[in-house]
Amino acid sequence: MKKNVRFMFFLLSMTIFIQVSCKAQSSNGARLENLDKGVYTIIHDDATDEWPHGNTGVIVGEDAVMVIDACYLPSMAKEDIRLIQTVTKKPVKYLAFTHWHFDHNNGAMAYKEAFPDITIISESASQKWVELNAIWWSKMSAANNSYRRQSLAKLEAELTSGKDAEGVPLTPLKVATLKKVIAQRQNELSELSTLKVIKPNKTFDQELTIDLGKRKVQLVNQGKGNSPADVTIYLPAEQILFTGDLLVQSPLPYLSSSWPLPWVKVLENMEKMPIKKMVLGHGPVQTDHSYTKKVRTFLETAISRVEALLLEGKTPDEIKRDLDLNDLRNGVWGDEKDKSDWKLNSDILVDRVMRGVRGQG
Ligand SMILES: [Zn+2]
Ligand SMILES: [Zn+2]
Repeated sequence: MKKNVRFMFFLLSMTIFIQVSCKAQSSNGARLENLDKGVYTIIHDDATDEWPHGNTGVIVGEDAVMVIDACYLPSMAKEDIRLIQTVTKKPVKYLAFTHWHFDHNNGAMAYKEAFPDITIISESASQKWVELNAIWWSKMSAANNSYRRQSLAKLEAELTSGKDAEGVPLTPLKVATLKKVIAQRQNELSELSTLKVIKPNKTFDQELTIDLGKRKVQLVNQGKGNSPADVTIYLPAEQILFTGDLLVQSPLPYLSSSWPLPWVKVLENMEKMPIKKMVLGHGPVQTDHSYTKKVRTFLETAISRVEALLLEGKTPDEIKRDLDLNDLRNGVWGDEKDKSDWKLNSDILVDRVMRGVRGQG
């Protein structure tokens, strides 16, 4: 199971082209890309085989610097801060969250340590979701005998015995992969054990415009999509849009705990925003709305087909069996290597769409 699907699976259980206009700097799994003068994104390697880091945005104005999203682990946020300081000497004044999911929030403690006066911005209801979920996730993950500790212990036992769970001897390549995965997961647990949860200290309901000095940034609560309140962050003069997880190319979108019906409307609105560059929640920078349209069409088609199957009187299991979305599987999604991800994604989407079309969420 690939990491993005595992990521979706965890969420479910609880509820390329890269155009680099200028230099790209790398640092320990983080790559800074220049989008326009003083505007950057940082794209990261995954934290573990199960969890990704969200993409980060960096906007430098004449008076202030804003960062968008803070990664999953504080160690990576520290790397981001180091990269940011290679392009500006100004302190980070604002950290804005696109949504509450902790692969975008947990690193806030690194920003708070580096910039004690920082203003951390979120949509109003997300303020509490950031706090509650980060506390819950870090405690649950780091607890003695937690699922995550048991799962890590199994991998460590495989490495010690030199055999996988089925008793098959590990190849040298598998040993190397296993060592990397174990090291990443040990580090993850150690960081979650010492996580300081930072609550946003500035909130807004619908819209907020921040002037960074000759650079305006518009934050808009688009409502339900990937999360219950997804915020887009837009630079109208530069036509640069940060989408959060409303758009993810990993390569599949993140659908678990999503709201597919309102999400379609959100994507329709986003397609009206002119863009030169668009930074997704995860995945490569886009230069037009072709991917936005692809995701919208995918959701719209899934909704209409699930609705039709429901009208035929089919059960959820029958709908999962009969729903065929393979005609939409092309482009970046066609390259997706693990075929089980597509089916898992489709099943997750059925559950979420069924709630929506039946008026249950
Ligand atoms: Zn994310
Ligand atoms: Zn998300």
